[in-house]
Amino acid sequence: MALPDDLVTRMAGLSGQISGVALDNRTALAKELWRRTSTRDAVCTPLRRFLAQMAPGRQHCMYCGDNHGTDIDHFEPVTRNPLRTFDWLNHLLACSTCNSHQKRDQFPVDTDGRPLLIDPTLEDPFDHLFLSLSVGEYKALTAKGRLTIEVCGLNRFLLSRGRVQARRVVAMSLRDWKQAFDTGDADQMQVALQTVHEQPFADVCQAMLRQAITPGAEVLFEKAMDLLHLLRFEPLRELLLRD
Ligand SMILES: [Zn+2]
Repeated sequence: MALPDDLVTRMAGLSGQISGVALDNRTALAKELWRRTSTRDAVCTPLRRFLAQMAPGRQHCMYCGDNHGTDIDHFEPVTRNPLRTFDWLNHLLACSTCNSHQKRDQFPVDTDGRPLLIDPTLEDPFDHLFLSLSVGEYKALTAKGRLTIEVCGLNRFLLSRGRVQARRVVAMSLRDWKQAFDTGDADQMQVALQTVHEQPFADVCQAMLRQAITPGAEVLFEKAMDLLHLLRFEPLRELLLRD
């Protein structure tokens, strides 16, 4: 999916304005341009719409997967790199809790200036994080994973509780889907699938699908073997992994 041409042009124009001023003035100008009403109407609103179409959890926050993604977060903060204020690869849909209260301007980097947070637009978060489905908490697999959990507060209570709930909803819906599949009830299959797609915490279903095909899956799903078989059922996997 490509960004509409007129939006690309407008964003390039704004980036040009920022690079056209002295280094010391760039952050202030970038912030001012970002907040301007004309920018909000011509850039931020269509951009948010575009990001929502791209986000795996539809309209949900790219960090917590729970709340509605109301804000555009700058992955690399404007204060650190004003030239990326209008670089759409630097934009993520986030909720105001994650954007304004958790991540804020935090952006740890290594000695070479490379980001130490997972960039969900470029990396697969599951390379760095393991979701423990029984408690709904993320465990770090890498140093990047650990910092991302800390900075974004990924294990805050409301989120872990929500993920446990999401696992239950997904499991129930998948069992409903299978029942409908067995009886050839296409409408009910659709309803069950939609329930999975529309619930928050898209990461939970994705983690379940991943974990079902790992070597330790029988242990992880020990109390729910029927669910494990469903998660491995190719026609269903295809539908769930498609978007
Ligand atoms: Zn959030």
